[in-house]
Amino acid sequence: MKNPAYLLVLLLILSACAWPRATQPSSEAPDLSPGSGWTTWDDFGRLLSQPPNAQLLMPVQGVRVGQIADTFLAPRPGGRLHEGQDIFASRGTPVYSATEGLVIRMGYGQLGGLYVMVLGPGGRRYYYAHLDRHAEGLQEGDLVTTQTLLGYVGNTGNARTTPPHLHFGVYGSWWGSDERVINPLPLLVGRNWQTLEALE
Ligand SMILES: [Zn+2]
Repeated sequence: MKNPAYLLVLLLILSACAWPRATQPSSEAPDLSPGSGWTTWDDFGRLLSQPPNAQLLMPVQGVRVGQIADTFLAPRPGGRLHEGQDIFASRGTPVYSATEGLVIRMGYGQLGGLYVMVLGPGGRRYYYAHLDRHAEGLQEGDLVTTQTLLGYVGNTGNARTTPPHLHFGVYGSWWGSDERVINPLPLLVGRNWQTLEALE
């Protein structure tokens, strides 16, 4: 952490606006079951202090990394750039978290449709969008692992006229030398879908 004072300010801001459901005292062991809600400050601090993932596990079941056509920062309508990668699969294909982390936001957006935002190690944020539906029981504040189901592939939001796919975006930490938008493709590795673990 280059500047601890900056981090403290950040934590204060987050506690004021994004942490209304922090109910467990940090001395208690977190409940890691699905739907356990906001966990502990210890978990949050631990995630922020870890280095960012050097590897991201393929989030869409049954898809190989080589199947992804690179569209990172490709022009999009309205002068936008494509801030991520699209991973095509049939509707309803399970989407697993590419990293461990904490679900900081779930909801519906005009562009992303039904989405999940996961805060990962080093403060990176992982954006899973256009979902057909969320995983049952998943809620903001849940700790997730690379084995956690987040939802199912769909084409909600501005993808409604395209075939179902996961939009997978990676955003850098608020501090340090991270780029604001990070290309997930060079970091993605395949999975053994029987065990959900990274392929060697
Ligand atoms: Zn996309």
